[in-house]
Amino acid sequence: MKTIDDFDFTGKKAIVRVDFNVPLNEQFEITDDTRMRAAVPTIRKLREKGAAVILMSHLGRPKNGPEEKFSLKHLVKHLSELLGTTVEFADDCIGESAKEKASALKAGDVLLLENLRFYKEETKGDEAFAQKLAALADMYVNDAFGTAHRAHASTAVIAKFFPGAKMFGYVMANEIKNINKVLKEAEKPFTAILGGAKVSGKIEIINNLLDKVDNLIIGGGMMFTFIKANGGKVGNSLVEEDLTETAREAMQKAKEQDVDMYIPVDAVIADKFDNEANRKVCASDEIPDGWMGLDIGDESVKTFTNVIENSATILWNGPMGVFEMENFAHGTIEIAKSIARATEKGAFSLVGGGDSVAAINKFNLQDKVSYVSTGGGAMLEYIEGKTLPGIAAIEEE
Ligand code: AMP
Repeated sequence: MKTIDDFDFTGKKAIVRVDFNVPLNEQFEITDDTRMRAAVPTIRKLREKGAAVILMSHLGRPKNGPEEKFSLKHLVKHLSELLGTTVEFADDCIGESAKEKASALKAGDVLLLENLRFYKEETKGDEAFAQKLAALADMYVNDAFGTAHRAHASTAVIAKFFPGAKMFGYVMANEIKNINKVLKEAEKPFTAILGGAKVSGKIEIINNLLDKVDNLIIGGGMMFTFIKANGGKVGNSLVEEDLTETAREAMQKAKEQDVDMYIPVDAVIADKFDNEANRKVCASDEIPDGWMGLDIGDESVKTFTNVIENSATILWNGPMGVFEMENFAHGTIEIAKSIARATEKGAFSLVGGGDSVAAINKFNLQDKVSYVSTGGGAMLEYIEGKTLPGIAAIEEE
């Protein structure tokens, strides 16, 4: 894997695709700078190695050209503070101002370009647009894992203009290395825990993981499609009738591949979708009409934590219940704590995909697992077994 460590940047300009898609409030203040901080080590290293650094990113989803609320100029001050240097800004990512500002850069200087998505050519993967961006620099660094599953101009197409001078930044390299640790080099026993609302959108992940894991734990709303497929009564729980056959096939495949599949035996049920609803515990396949399962029960927690704490590799995606409501967060908390205990004993644990990251942060356990992937959609496509355009573009010669 080629990273910025493998290249000499003396006298060179490097254009770096970062993911600065940060949330801004009404006053255009940054409310969470995690993604900006993540890019700092790559930028710092490039400056140390003598590069002039040109940063490009998208922000939000502008529809028709420039929009004040999606301008990257709102990030300049904070980025200057994070880097300890004055960051220049070009109010257009291509065109004369970008060209002039880029050509004036000296070693160690940093220039931030305006939002790439002010041009529809970016998401269309337009080659002429990519070439204009490429003309600003001598080297190309992709450090935006969050958009690695998109074949956009700045994330993939641009790479072809930098033969022998394209590489990953540290964010990308870390994500790839850590996800590969579970997908390609997992020590056994390997346990995957999948939860979240629905089975749809997770079928490919289930199928790909069934080829790799020893144990597959299912929780969250998606468990009820499996329970229904087995002939259980799920009351008013979230269920995808059209996917019961798919769920049945997955259970069959698990059997054939010798994968132990764990589906919760008990559930915390509620008479409405509300933290203050009446609630009780029952067998997960005997939920009365008018009641819905919103968390896994203690029996299931006991079985799952036992499996987790006897694993050498753990992958967790998706909460076990409606963890946003305190009364239905217990199962998710216990699973998170169990992964932390397994990690302490030496297991490698990877947590990824929107809501499990939110959960692990909420319970303050993010430092007790081996790696938290910030990749979201990109991470999910990677564990589906897909080739990500942003990775392929760097790797192919
Ligand atoms: P996903 O985006 O598919 O990972 O789903 C995450 C969401 O699933 C969270 O907002 C949870 O509240 C929700 N969820 C988890 N368990 C259940 C459940 N038993 N019923 C309904 N929603 C659930």
